[in-house]
Amino acid sequence: MDEIRKIILAHLVVITMLLSYSILSFAAQAKNVILMIGDGMGPAHIHITWLYATRQLGKDLVMIEIMNKGQTASMVNDTADSTVTESAAAAVQMATGVKVLARSIGIGPDGKVLKTIQEMAKEKGKATGLVTTAGITDATPAAFAAHVERRSEEERIAEQLVNSNVDILFGGRKAFFLPEAEGGKRKDVRNLIHEAKQNGYEFVSTGEEMKKAQNEKVLGLFNQGNMLFEIDRKGSQEPSLAEMTSRALDVLSRNKNGFFLMVEGGRIDHAAHMNDIGALIWDGLAFDEAVRVAYEFQRANPDTLLIITADHETGGLVVLPYSSTGREYEGINLEAISKIKGSSERRNKEMGEDPSPEKIREIMKKYYDIDLTEAQVKVIRENLPKQLDPKHFYYGRNSAIAFVLRPYHRVGWATDSHSGTPLFLWGVGPGSEKIKGWRHNTEVFSIMKEAYGF
Ligand SMILES: [Zn+2]
Repeated sequence: MDEIRKIILAHLVVITMLLSYSILSFAAQAKNVILMIGDGMGPAHIHITWLYATRQLGKDLVMIEIMNKGQTASMVNDTADSTVTESAAAAVQMATGVKVLARSIGIGPDGKVLKTIQEMAKEKGKATGLVTTAGITDATPAAFAAHVERRSEEERIAEQLVNSNVDILFGGRKAFFLPEAEGGKRKDVRNLIHEAKQNGYEFVSTGEEMKKAQNEKVLGLFNQGNMLFEIDRKGSQEPSLAEMTSRALDVLSRNKNGFFLMVEGGRIDHAAHMNDIGALIWDGLAFDEAVRVAYEFQRANPDTLLIITADHETGGLVVLPYSSTGREYEGINLEAISKIKGSSERRNKEMGEDPSPEKIREIMKKYYDIDLTEAQVKVIRENLPKQLDPKHFYYGRNSAIAFVLRPYHRVGWATDSHSGTPLFLWGVGPGSEKIKGWRHNTEVFSIMKEAYGF
């Protein structure tokens, strides 16, 4: 009798263990995943945006709150062929878990098509969405839904996107959806906005239209090119990144099977490429507002894994210690940065291709309230950094202007391209316990996949 009791008891113990294990593993699964990518957002970009928020605006960043409450790791991002990456390879590595060649989209180094986490989510009946302030055909969003050898094939990426069945597509670069005859950049005569409508998409082109959209598939293209820098956005009809994120979550969360959403702060990278600290901070703050929206959703829906990271660092950005006239160890001049009048994109348009010394003085006074010396005018006019190191200071006069601004704003830039600086990877929700230590960006894929239970 005792033996039988022992056997029954042992079986009960095993059954209880199995049950609690399955409940635990069930509880650790994510119904939804939100992946937020600050393009080009290295540690210094987060640090400077945090300094500005806390010291100039009197508020903390939601990104920092999540770092403190959730899990944080350092993350490296080397590719199959380089130790410094660009957005395409970086996003593909996060979307598929495979190390790939620079500039490829959704294709492995062996030429084979890779399946992305977005496509896996779709196969399981989940809704999916891609949101960016850059072009929806740009490398980061494309990496989750398109497959082409080179990221520059944006006409083909646009074709693949409107046939991808991704439910929400919000961003810029409408020009790749329209033929030249209709104001677009397409060399063929296809109007992909018409084709998208035939595929069941509702099309919107302003923030107001986006808010009113009724459909469960929405294509939103808000600018012919990239969407505006946040610092220039006032008075435009474009939605903010937070508004796009909020709308995407409203629509995607209607699917009872859950969803996958990728949100990119795409122009943080562009600001850094232009060595533009003002535009960088404002787009960093706009990204943080989008993170706030996602975090509120995550708290109301705890079966959501929210991950925040970057694809690579842009600019080799550092905070510098000295001004030319002030005391020792002053650090960044947030006060002066708060008075910058607009982005370098606007500034360059006003300054023109070949500015006279008078024009340079006028524009630098207008945008930065600086009276230039002869030597400073010469650096900008003759574009001296580009003469010395044309590969690392490639784009227009941006780096020459940034060099002149060093003692005023007290930030430095090592390049107008990307650097290999390690990044942060952080998040909350089921599956986020794996976010710790020293991670490679290919592991973002496995963290999301395992959280879903695929
Ligand atoms: Zn870039």
